[in-house]
Amino acid sequence: MLRSRSLEVEEIRKDFPILKRKIHGKRLVYLDNAATTQRPKSVIDATVDYYSNHNANPHRGVHQLSVEATEAFEGARSKVASFIKASTEEVIFTKGTTESINLVRYGWGPTHIRKGDLIVLTMMEHHSNIVPWQLLARQVGARIEYVSLTEDGKLNMSHFEALMDQSPSLVAFTHCSNVLGTVNDAAKLAALAKRAGATTVVDAAQSAPHMPVDVGQIGCDFFAFSGHKMLGPTGIGVLYGKKSVLETTEPFEAGGDMIKEVHTTGATWNDLPYKFEAGTQNSAGAVGLGAAVDYLTAIGMERVRDHEETVSAYALEQMGKFPGITVYGPRDARERGGVVSFNMGDIHPHDMASILDEEGVAIRSGHHCAQPLMDLLNVPAMSRASFYIYNSFDDVDALMQALSKARNVFCL
Ligand code: PMP
Repeated sequence: MLRSRSLEVEEIRKDFPILKRKIHGKRLVYLDNAATTQRPKSVIDATVDYYSNHNANPHRGVHQLSVEATEAFEGARSKVASFIKASTEEVIFTKGTTESINLVRYGWGPTHIRKGDLIVLTMMEHHSNIVPWQLLARQVGARIEYVSLTEDGKLNMSHFEALMDQSPSLVAFTHCSNVLGTVNDAAKLAALAKRAGATTVVDAAQSAPHMPVDVGQIGCDFFAFSGHKMLGPTGIGVLYGKKSVLETTEPFEAGGDMIKEVHTTGATWNDLPYKFEAGTQNSAGAVGLGAAVDYLTAIGMERVRDHEETVSAYALEQMGKFPGITVYGPRDARERGGVVSFNMGDIHPHDMASILDEEGVAIRSGHHCAQPLMDLLNVPAMSRASFYIYNSFDDVDALMQALSKARNVFCL
């Protein structure tokens, strides 16, 4: 089924129950992984096992089940910490990337960004790395500048450097674009931002699931990602924060477990990372994410990256030969993640996605929560195929056949 030098895709596919499904009588070709990935049985089983055998409220009791729940929850944190090469006190569980970035916006933002300060974003950001900063800017009177893009969808580095000359207070950028696929050199951007005196936030929703990550080597202050985009459950995600920066960050939410002491006159905060985890946490989700980390680690993130590069290169090659398709982003698969966005003639992406669905091919269509980028490229929407460890060249071939059908339907 697969011609790839990196992964045994046929073996991997057996671990994913949903991939056995038929869609409209056809084999499911799931190419919507940038929206959410599928879950292997080990992740589903870990969640079921937690609820079936160990469920209690972590950190709350001395009884046996509470101890087991605490060990499971904190064990998951240790796995995530090793996965991104952080320490456990720097790993905060959240609902996902969106909540992680909002934690920074509310907990760190108002005490660090002042009237007239500059916030630098890029033109390839997802709304969840734009709107929180727009709200913060409005609240404190800061201004926002967006780094422009090159013709082939990369960051315009001379513009980036010119903005650094204006001494921004915050630089927030995506590690990998969910539309263009562009992989940004996060370590280089963080170093330039640091030199300019800025705090850095990396949106890693599309990178942490797909490539080896070492937050220390990147050198950023915050790094946000979601469990559901890396084989884990929905409703669980991560905010990494550098310890020294977390120490000057205010709590995001207030309630149980995030405090050390509460008196009628006030409260003091718990140690890191618990200061940022108010109320009963999604412990089953964390356990599932821990199992997802185990699954990816057993494969090896270098091999995951290599595989996606191979499949994306094949998709780019096939699309390049297909008349009438416009592909967005860098041409070289080595510069991109496993995301290929495209348009064909004037077929609306929603019509395209419906025709592909009839063939069992699941892709995403729309503005991909990146409307400023759509405006810049002067398109209302795009179709997007996005790959993961269980996708093969056969899946790309199925996509191309479905695209031929779409072309015939619309008589292009
Ligand atoms: N940033 C990027 C680049 C994304 O692709 C996404 C999800 N589409 C998000 C942020 C938001 O992630 P979540 O919905 O899991 O919070």
